[in-house]
Amino acid sequence: MSIIDKPLEQTAVLGAGTMGHGIAQLLALAGHGVCLYDPNPESLANAPLQIQASLEAFMDAGMVELQDAENCLDRIELSADLGASCQDAGLIIEAAPENLGLKLKLLSEVEALVAKDAVICSNTSAISITELCKALNDSTRFLGTHFWNPAQVIPCVELIPGPDTDPKHMDRVGEIMTHAGKEPVRLNRDIPGFLGNRLQHALQREAMSLVDNGVASPEDVDRVVRYGFGLRLALMGPIERADLGGLDTTLAVQSYLIPKLADNLEPSPKLSALVKEGKVGAKAGQGFYEWPTEKLLDRTAQRDRLLLELLKLTKGTG
Ligand code: NAD
Repeated sequence: MSIIDKPLEQTAVLGAGTMGHGIAQLLALAGHGVCLYDPNPESLANAPLQIQASLEAFMDAGMVELQDAENCLDRIELSADLGASCQDAGLIIEAAPENLGLKLKLLSEVEALVAKDAVICSNTSAISITELCKALNDSTRFLGTHFWNPAQVIPCVELIPGPDTDPKHMDRVGEIMTHAGKEPVRLNRDIPGFLGNRLQHALQREAMSLVDNGVASPEDVDRVVRYGFGLRLALMGPIERADLGGLDTTLAVQSYLIPKLADNLEPSPKLSALVKEGKVGAKAGQGFYEWPTEKLLDRTAQRDRLLLELLKLTKGTG
């Protein structure tokens, strides 16, 4: 039986920050009840504003009707009470800060609060699911659900099993995600960083190394990606691209270039220095680039609008 034939789930999203509000929005748009929990009142107050703004972008793009947007908002309840948020939920998605100790503590608390048949998921970016399983007595119902920012827009969600995850829970979460319009990608086994962040951080290591070594400015590194190979990444991944480009050429380039690529085992010195100075990126007004508030709002609104257009253009292209 597909999820569409089943009653929809009551769900809980734990953490109402950058990722949590987007995950809550996509679950509620798909018809699920959502309790959005956060211990921080500021995050709880911001979440509905961010969801409202995103729903408006979906409506402007003709992808959501007014009534569906209103229903979506009605289905989301905000809470600062972890027990009340979890008690009726059949699906819990943790989207708290990327801190192993915090996640272990939270997951252990959650397990004691939820129903025996509830499925517990973590949106960790990179922490091994096997590591997080240590928080739980019963890790058969635990898996990673790795979304991409903005979670309500980007289709991919990686489903990562722990060593004991029951495949029926992977199936169930996969169905829920497909029904919500996502493109779930199921890993055969757990690996730190999963698929997407291993790929993304391989690129970031090289990008930041080029800046660290004075080969190019951050702007020029970004321009090569944006106006070069990045343009086709929405249409095909690196392996299909290698087939199209010719595997003989790919082998020749790899044989020559791989030994010359960045292989640093520590983060970029420039990245470390910026963070040490409190220049942690757009949210602090300064990172590799300067981010006055107006520029940040314009750029994120433009990103979300163009991503929705891209989604419409690429839908059904295989
Ligand atoms: P964030 O800092 O924007 O939001 C985290 C929220 O969790 C905050 O609102 C905070 O108040 C709340 N919080 C703090 N302690 C908590 C607790 N004990 N229980 C529940 N909530 C708590 O962070 P984010 O970017 O939304 O990241 C959340 C998770 O998603 C992290 O594991 C991160 O690595 C992962 N992730 C982030 C991105 C991204 O691009 N930002 C993408 C994919 C996955």
